[in-house]
Amino acid sequence: MRAIDIIAKKRDGKELSDSEIEWLIKGYTLTEIPDYQMAAWLMAVFFEGMTERETAALTLAMAQSGEMVDLSAVPGIKVDKHSTGGVADTTTLVLAPLVSAAGIPVAKMSGRGLGFTGGTIDKLEAIPGFKATLEQHEFIANLQKYQIAITGQTASIAPADGKLYALRDVTATVESIALIASSIMSKKIAAGADKIVLDVKVGSGAFMKNKADAISLATAMVRIGRLVGRQTVAVLTSMDEPLGVAIGNSLEVKAAIEILSGRGGSALKEVCLTLGSQMLVAGGKALTPEIARRKLMTLIDSKQGLAKFGEFIAAQGGDAAIVYNPDSLQLARYWAEVASIGRGYVKKIDAAQIGYAAMRLGAGREYKDQKIDLAAGVVLKCHVGHYIDKNQPLATIYSNDSCRLAEAIHLIQQAVSFDSRAVAPPPLILGFVDDNGFHDRLA
Ligand code: URA
Repeated sequence: MRAIDIIAKKRDGKELSDSEIEWLIKGYTLTEIPDYQMAAWLMAVFFEGMTERETAALTLAMAQSGEMVDLSAVPGIKVDKHSTGGVADTTTLVLAPLVSAAGIPVAKMSGRGLGFTGGTIDKLEAIPGFKATLEQHEFIANLQKYQIAITGQTASIAPADGKLYALRDVTATVESIALIASSIMSKKIAAGADKIVLDVKVGSGAFMKNKADAISLATAMVRIGRLVGRQTVAVLTSMDEPLGVAIGNSLEVKAAIEILSGRGGSALKEVCLTLGSQMLVAGGKALTPEIARRKLMTLIDSKQGLAKFGEFIAAQGGDAAIVYNPDSLQLARYWAEVASIGRGYVKKIDAAQIGYAAMRLGAGREYKDQKIDLAAGVVLKCHVGHYIDKNQPLATIYSNDSCRLAEAIHLIQQAVSFDSRAVAPPPLILGFVDDNGFHDRLA
């Protein structure tokens, strides 16, 4: 086979065979195919798309390009969850302990934040002593003992995706449904869970800016799951404004503890309950999402989810006392209130811009491997629909570098827009995609 023929075939809109896709991915992983040919192929895929069969073949080829984690030594149905990425999206920190407390082994490989989106591994590293990278035997041992383990994704999981993602990032080929679906699902499949619940974000702060594209992405991933025998369900959730109030690593750990302690209802809690219900149904611990939801509420009210969070932190070397004393988590030295420059009903809070402000405060990375300030970030004081007067605080910001505050204040002030008429908060849960297609609500 020759890479040039495979590129030309895709450029001409023809369907590639499984063996052509496998050959290409293997050759690229082994550096036998150069970046310039792979970049040309990615652009051909970007314009011509891929059939369902091609997308599944690409996913499997990327999953099998490295280690495939075997979780069969852990009894029970292992359920993973994945978010396509957003701002103030602290769901994993709430859901992993809560679902584990319901008796489902939660085995999760998570990433670090890049650009305006956060990453679970950075958030967990804000907990003193927490070890976010486990060897495979430690991961499995913790899962057997505590029913919960979270580790950073190593380079040995789906290495073809790691290389391809870096190339897509610099060749304007990220925003392709076939490429995003295969990228996400290859890592989920290699990480070994039996069932997968996906949180597909929709809106200005997400890859998918509208519902139709989000349904297409969710459908592609659910179908890949079915084709490779990993049952997958997707929940479409809004990312037009930040999901929670906290953006930044220690701040998000605190926000998760608040929810697990039963304090406050919020959009973040609602998304956690919706995703968690799907995880409990997938894991065979509840017959319907309604029953699952009640079970999750009981685990919050009884603080069993919070206790599991503490157990999980201790199991990975962290200071479990923070779950009962979250104020002991370090906050940055400098802080400021962001005063509103407008007045009226909040019409829009640009999630990407708020995420960018948190990054500029030091909470996120502008480039891979950049050192971040785990104590920096933003606490929002408003949501869409709230009435805000001029000079009323929109947010409090934190940084260990006082020079960064002024820019973040300006970014946040510009990110919030107003209407003189009342604004209804937009819907949070936009629908579900399972093997039977899209539904507004799950039956
Ligand atoms: N997240 C991934 O892991 N891959 C993509 O292509 C996009 C988001």
